[in-house]
Amino acid sequence: MCPPEIVLLKNFTHYFLHLGFPAVIAFVFYRTRWKKVYLILLATMLVDLDHLFADPVFDPNRASIGFHFLHSYYAIAVYFLLLFFKGNLRIIGIGLLFHMLTDFQDFEFWCH
Ligand SMILES: [Zn+2]
Repeated sequence: MCPPEIVLLKNFTHYFLHLGFPAVIAFVFYRTRWKKVYLILLATMLVDLDHLFADPVFDPNRASIGFHFLHSYYAIAVYFLLLFFKGNLRIIGIGLLFHMLTDFQDFEFWCH
């Protein structure tokens, strides 16, 4: 079991990585059009729709990475390839890879 203050810190980290850090990426690397880039990065959270095909939809004791099909290692390889394109595809790739990193640390670095 996780002590409540650790759960709080874990949740804060999770939401910061999902919502706050993409704004930092957008502002630092795409300053002139950071709002549009931020929206694209937020939209990559739609990959979590693959959870709807799992039963139960959310299980704190299950790692998303390597389980759901949009969180599989094959999918991650495709997201990596998106980095080689220019424009919005690259931004989508950044968002998806960052999402995977967020989900990974969420499961691997904390107690459950
Ligand atoms: Zn996810």
